[in-house]
Amino acid sequence: MATVETIGGRLDPEDLGLTLIHEHFFSSDEAVSAQWPHVRQRDREYELALESAEAVKSHGVKTVVEPTAMLLGRDIPALQRLASDTGLQIVVCTGIYTYDHLPQFLLNRDEDFIASLFVHDIEEGIQGTDVKAAFIKCAADEPGVNERIEKVHRAAARASVRTGAPIMAHSRPATNTGPRQVEILLEEGVAAEKIQIAHTGDTDDLTYIQGLLDMIELLKRGHAERMFISQDFDVPIANGLDWFPPETVEQLQAAGAATNWSMTFLFEDIIPTLKDAGITDDQLDTMMVENPKRWLGV
Ligand SMILES: [Zn+2]
Repeated sequence: MATVETIGGRLDPEDLGLTLIHEHFFSSDEAVSAQWPHVRQRDREYELALESAEAVKSHGVKTVVEPTAMLLGRDIPALQRLASDTGLQIVVCTGIYTYDHLPQFLLNRDEDFIASLFVHDIEEGIQGTDVKAAFIKCAADEPGVNERIEKVHRAAARASVRTGAPIMAHSRPATNTGPRQVEILLEEGVAAEKIQIAHTGDTDDLTYIQGLLDMIELLKRGHAERMFISQDFDVPIANGLDWFPPETVEQLQAAGAATNWSMTFLFEDIIPTLKDAGITDDQLDTMMVENPKRWLGV
């Protein structure tokens, strides 16, 4: 029988319930955090993560899938604390979130070695805990699927083939990285139904409106069983998002960017809009309950 690993242990996929498939409670630059911990405000970050966790629970969410991998500051002890304080089911990953750079340690080792690191997280546990990864994260973005990115994808694929764990691949529609990513994963023998291409709704301009229109069109054509919906929200760290200094975040928000980005935006804005466009509760249930069950169950 299929099961799903979570922070709190192994679950029957039937118990996942309403699931957000892609949200980040704790993400930061792990090298900066290790070398200059004074720029982090961990207590405040925990409070903000707790607020987001409680907010999604109030919308009936039972499970959050947290795709924070290596180089994005994966923090299992913080997630363990959050899961036990809130009762939320949190599903975590292994993998590497890079668009290009790899540390020398990984540059000079091959795909099979990297795959064995991923398998360790899936079978033994992560960061010295007994929490196991339920899926594998990889990414391609502006630099494209170059040699280093291909290596990470092949390693993810080999770990998936060995363990059955599904893969979430961050993609960049603006430069069409998706097809090459899928090609590599399939070439390595990953089961097609275990591949999730993340960010297919993103476009460079008019992201929000275009993404919604594309989504409605796909749903109307009967593709709900192939789609997930989530926000990819990052709980802010320190005084803003980790990637930008606080003053840049303020400028971006003053210019209208991401002003209402939150872990509940989906429930407050997107879902009502989808329903107005004729998307049914059944289709939402397919994307937020049934698909996560099928993708994560191993
Ligand atoms: Zn993300």
